[in-house]
Amino acid sequence: MVSSGEGHQMPLYEFRCAADCGSFERSFPMADAPGTTRCPRCDRDAVRRVSSPRLGHGSSSAMNLLDSTKRSAHEPDVVTGPPPGTTAGRSPVTNNPLHRRLPRP
Ligand SMILES: [Zn+2]
Repeated sequence: MVSSGEGHQMPLYEFRCAADCGSFERSFPMADAPGTTRCPRCDRDAVRRVSSPRLGHGSSSAMNLLDSTKRSAHEPDVVTGPPPGTTAGRSPVTNNPLHRRLPRP
């Protein structure tokens, strides 16, 4: 019974043939990606291109989503109203944290 690495999703690396076959992609375990591999067409050395492995796409938009979520978490949830007496001469609307989120002209 041999448990191989099958089923694991491995990142794709881009290689470029030392001859003129162009580039191709191979997947390797992330810790085990060689600097060169064999070109599938001419069997010569192909050099790995310097680029980040592709595990998927849309990671940057996911980061943006995380960022905006974090930002809204920074807004105070619990804000007690001003103590009686301090509202004199002030509009109570500007002290309301809920209203503060609204776009102002
Ligand atoms: Zn080649």
